[in-house]
Amino acid sequence: MLSMLPRSVLMVAAILFALGCSKDNHSHGDSHDHDHSHDEPHASATAEPGSYEDWCGGHGVPESKCTRCNSALVASFKANNDWCAEHELPASQCVKCDPNRKAIRPPKPAGK
Ligand SMILES: [Zn+2]
Ligand SMILES: [Zn+2]
Repeated sequence: MLSMLPRSVLMVAAILFALGCSKDNHSHGDSHDHDHSHDEPHASATAEPGSYEDWCGGHGVPESKCTRCNSALVASFKANNDWCAEHELPASQCVKCDPNRKAIRPPKPAGK
C-alpha cells in the first residue's frame, strides 16, 4: 500500500510534464502564419468591383477606381467633377487633401 503514493505522485508529475511539453510545441506553430494577401498589390482584372479582391494595395483604393493603375478612369472622375487637379487624384480619394478620405478595404468574405 505504501508504494502507491509515490507512484501516483510520479504519474501526476509525468502528466504535468506532458502538458507542459504539448503547450511548448503549440507555440512553435506561429511560423506558418504567412498571409500572402499583402504580397499582391494589385487585384486581378476579374475582381468584382467593391469586393475584397477589388483592392489596389499599392494605392489604398479599390482597384476598379484606381486612376494611378488605370488612367482610363481619369476622364470619368473628371466628368463627375470628382477630381483633385493639384494631386492628380479623384477628389474622393485624395487623402492629401483630407486624410479622412482614406478608403477602407471591404472585409474578406467568410470561408476564404
Ligand atoms: Zn493602384
Ligand atoms: Zn488633393
